[in-house]
Amino acid sequence: MNTIAAISTPLAVGGISVLRISGDEAKSIAEKIFIPASGKKLRAVPGYSAHFGRVRDKNGDFDEGIATVFNAPKSYTGEDVVEITCHGGIYITKRLLRAAISAGAAPAQNGEFTKRAFLNGKMDLTAAESVMDLIAAQGEQAAKAAHMMSEGSLWQEVQGIKSVLIACNAHIAAFIDYPEDDVPQLKMDEIKRSVADCRSRLQELSDTFDRGRLMREGIDTVIVGKPNVGKSTLMNLLSGCDRSIVTEIPGTTRDTVEETVQLGLVTLRLCDTAGIRDSDDIVEKIGIDRAKRRIETAQLVIAVFDSSKALEPDDLELIECCKGKLAIAVVNKTDLEPKLDLDMIGSVFPDVVQISALQRDSLDVLANAVERQTKIAELDTSSAILSTERQKQCVEGCISALDEADKAIETTTLDAVGVLLDDAIAEILSLTGERVTDAVVDEVFSRFCVGK
Ligand code: GDP
Repeated sequence: MNTIAAISTPLAVGGISVLRISGDEAKSIAEKIFIPASGKKLRAVPGYSAHFGRVRDKNGDFDEGIATVFNAPKSYTGEDVVEITCHGGIYITKRLLRAAISAGAAPAQNGEFTKRAFLNGKMDLTAAESVMDLIAAQGEQAAKAAHMMSEGSLWQEVQGIKSVLIACNAHIAAFIDYPEDDVPQLKMDEIKRSVADCRSRLQELSDTFDRGRLMREGIDTVIVGKPNVGKSTLMNLLSGCDRSIVTEIPGTTRDTVEETVQLGLVTLRLCDTAGIRDSDDIVEKIGIDRAKRRIETAQLVIAVFDSSKALEPDDLELIECCKGKLAIAVVNKTDLEPKLDLDMIGSVFPDVVQISALQRDSLDVLANAVERQTKIAELDTSSAILSTERQKQCVEGCISALDEADKAIETTTLDAVGVLLDDAIAEILSLTGERVTDAVVDEVFSRFCVGK
């Protein structure tokens, strides 16, 4: 395998940058661009050792840094790896990479370090995929789920299922091949029970996918309400900064403003919209139409009402739009004298939160409601959660093979049952990457960034 190099830190101004080199020639290439102050040869130093020295190319020294040496197989990729830390300037970082390439390294492709780790048996495919999730995680729960997957939570769960299916198949095969030998009586009802048990475990896994996605990617959320109910104030409270224009004049939030915020355990992708109301103002209308469209497409609607005013036709229109949606009613301005018909709102929205958007502690009340409604708090991040479409497809494929196998137990031959159980096992092997095509592996790692 050729030796590859890439910058593993973001290409931006920062304290330090890290160049990673991996492959048989990693240490000899590193020696050409890094001179240890100790005079030692990097080829001769032990693994897990760090060395201060000068960074150079053919034009001479241009920085000082640290080289950390990892000897195969005890490295991230399983190959010899040298990581050179230099100062985090963009010019210096690029120059270091160019120096490594001139010294004989090939530029690493997207995810190539992690791909090599997978190909060298350092991690299964689900753990490799979790690396991307861990990097992308915005909240505590998503990071924890990704960490657990990198520790093998999904791998272990499907290995358990796989061994049950292999045992069923071995039993069937032995019975078919040697019916008159000492194979204990074939217990079809036991096989049927095992298949049903595996199926329900797989179904539980499959059910984690949608909620897991909401947890990882954040919930596409829209804040709606007629003008002046306090949407912008709420948005600002949520985002902790003055992003939207807050004003006494109705209708000043003309268009949408997007923001990602962490509310309790939940990441919200927020969109502040113009208030819902009938308007002849063209600019305003664009905003209002968009608000209605956003209610349809949003995963969560936060509908804001003014506690100090009786319900108006615009509020009723909003309530109508929210029917059938995952929606939370926020009754705002509870510091003022109440005039709103709470019963009417409570009859449509499963969660009605009474707050004053001017007070910070309102966030906790809203956070609880959002966690309740999205059921994200119920997601057990310490157990296996599916995180990619690919994993979901493998699990679904396995479930349908088991459904077929279950039918075949009643209606066809044992051979057919065996073949279908093999199909189910193949889906699991593909999920973990134990048996997977190059095309699938390439596809998985193409989602990665360079340097990982
Ligand atoms: P929007 O048009 O729905 O975005 O409403 P804004 O956020 O611009 O708020 C309209 C007015 O209501 C502003 O003067 C806010 O300061 C005020 N406001 C917002 N929330 C509260 C609240 O909880 N209590 C009171 N008394 N005023 C509020």
